[in-house]
Amino acid sequence: LTRYDRMMARRRPKKGQAASKGYREAKKWRAKTYAKIARQRQDTGRKWAKKAVTDHDAIAVEDFRPKFLARSSMARKAADAAIGATKKALVEMGRKHGRDIRLVHPAHTTMDCASCGARTKHALPLSERTYTCTACKVVSPRDKNSARVMLVRAGLNPAGVEGVRPPGALLPEAA
Ligand SMILES: [Zn+2]
Repeated sequence: LTRYDRMMARRRPKKGQAASKGYREAKKWRAKTYAKIARQRQDTGRKWAKKAVTDHDAIAVEDFRPKFLARSSMARKAADAAIGATKKALVEMGRKHGRDIRLVHPAHTTMDCASCGARTKHALPLSERTYTCTACKVVSPRDKNSARVMLVRAGLNPAGVEGVRPPGALLPEAA
């Protein structure tokens, strides 16, 4: 994409001038590349969603809203688009298979304690993989804590999910 963006910029017609053949070609290639990326993103999202929906009856997912801020980096935009496509695939796949998919408010899912509901004052740096609650002193892996926060917000019981593996799911050790 960046390459074709550059090609387009180089060949951009001056004001009031008709677009050159080179410009139109670069534009066509860019559109083709973009469509390919979107297709791959959707395919990956659907494959993942199929597995999640097959393995679970009820799923809580962050109601993620990509912002596509003008100043955000290309990498950030690409990541947002990928997360957005995956969430969409999950909702669609869940509906298709009659699963209970619940969207939860995405704010502070990494800052709240799943145990007592307290919120940390500052966001944890991404490198910090363990969540330690300042209020109730509970210690749990960061992602697990966030997952439990989402289940609680969705009105699902995290305790009911704990330790239960759906049939067919591979244990991490066995994978
Ligand atoms: Zn706590």
